[in-house]
Amino acid sequence: MGPEPVPVTGTLIWYVAVCPRQTWLMGHNIEPFRDHELLALGRLLAETSYPRERKELELPGMKVDVLRRRPIDADEDEALVIGEVKRSPRAQHAQRLQLGYYLLRLRDAGLHVRGELRYPEQRRVEQVELTPELEAAVRQAIQRVEELLQLPQPPPPVRIPACTNCAYYEFCWVSEAEPTTERVPRNRGRKRGSSS
Ligand code: SF4
Repeated sequence: MGPEPVPVTGTLIWYVAVCPRQTWLMGHNIEPFRDHELLALGRLLAETSYPRERKELELPGMKVDVLRRRPIDADEDEALVIGEVKRSPRAQHAQRLQLGYYLLRLRDAGLHVRGELRYPEQRRVEQVELTPELEAAVRQAIQRVEELLQLPQPPPPVRIPACTNCAYYEFCWVSEAEPTTERVPRNRGRKRGSSS
């Protein structure tokens, strides 16, 4: 019996759109290599972008990168804007699901919020609204995460393009990587609430 799974989080919603195995590993506190350069770059970008607007909203299972009030004359239904800071729109489907999950959680808490995907390196912003289609996709993703986390073992690795830059690469494909004794993922024993 492995470690107990964590509850559904926005990060897991992102992962489930990319790789079920990654979802299981992250959902069971099997930590990826924190010195992986793309993870470090994502953390740095999220921490240093938009310093004037930057505030954090943290609830169980979610930590929003950017939160600001709309101008005073804005529609009252959109008084708050939350944002996710990303390096590139390459996995935008997963990014929209993650942000949609936050919008759904906040709407269920009685807050009317609009979302933005922010790409500081490209100086680009994508608006995200919780449409019925996005809500249905988010609910499906939540169900998929819950089903995956009930599995006693992670699904077997399946090679996909995302493997190339995945922090679990050596964990999944160790026989194809350089022999290593140092970079073994460890059980973190703590919950995770946000992503890069
Ligand atoms: S290396 Fe590939 S199969 Fe393994 S967790 Fe990452 S994306 Fe999934």
